[in-house]
Amino acid sequence: MALEEYKRKRRFEDTPEPPPKVEKKSAHRFVVQKHRASHLHYDFRLEKDGVLLSWAVPKGPSLDPADKRLAMQVEDHPVSYYDFEGIIPEGNYGAGTVMVWDVGNWEPLSPVAVNGKYVPGTEKEATEMLQKGDLKFRLKGKRLNGDFALIHMKRRRPGSKGNEWLLIKKHDDSAVEGYNIEEEDSSAISGRTMREIAGDQGSAEWESDRPASKGRTKQAWLAKAVAKMDAKNRAAKTVVKAATGKKAAEKKTRKSTSRVARKK
Ligand code: MN
Repeated sequence: MALEEYKRKRRFEDTPEPPPKVEKKSAHRFVVQKHRASHLHYDFRLEKDGVLLSWAVPKGPSLDPADKRLAMQVEDHPVSYYDFEGIIPEGNYGAGTVMVWDVGNWEPLSPVAVNGKYVPGTEKEATEMLQKGDLKFRLKGKRLNGDFALIHMKRRRPGSKGNEWLLIKKHDDSAVEGYNIEEEDSSAISGRTMREIAGDQGSAEWESDRPASKGRTKQAWLAKAVAKMDAKNRAAKTVVKAATGKKAAEKKTRKSTSRVARKK
């Protein structure tokens, strides 16, 4: 394991993220970080061999065994990334807000279930399962608990990166049918919401790509319709007073059009 790719992608004088240090001693912690970068996603990380093995999960992990979550393996992260929460400034790799969504410990499971139940495995088994692309493990977190599998998908086409895995919850007492990760939007270590972590700067950005939340217009479709109407009116150089109603507006438009025609 090394952190070369992690190092290559970042400028540590510009980002508050921890430096690329491989730890000599390794525990078995895990972290899930909610990351509002160019696309909102969750980063799933398992501590192993002095680094955090990392997967970006677009829809986030699920406690519902029916959900097979796409998990793209990304570069290993330093162990000290475990409790990183804050803002990666604009212009940096992964710029955006990071929240520690869940923390806890993981343990390897033995690759073969006995009577449908998995039992704890060894570090060696975990290493082998990872190499084979079928890691079975148990989570003990604040939100995620129970048995999971990370399964490496075969390259579907030549030239694909080969970094696609599936994160799947096993059937056990911790399984939750219809699990919805969106319902829990607070940090597992600070209790803050994404907006609180983002602070003023972040919330301004948050608002800027949501025109519907500006001013008094709350509904997106309404804001769009109003904007369209404004543009139309500007183009026709016609002032339409809301109170005049549709017919009056049409009349006025006709009038102004005929005026333009007369001028020609
Ligand atoms: Mn990320």
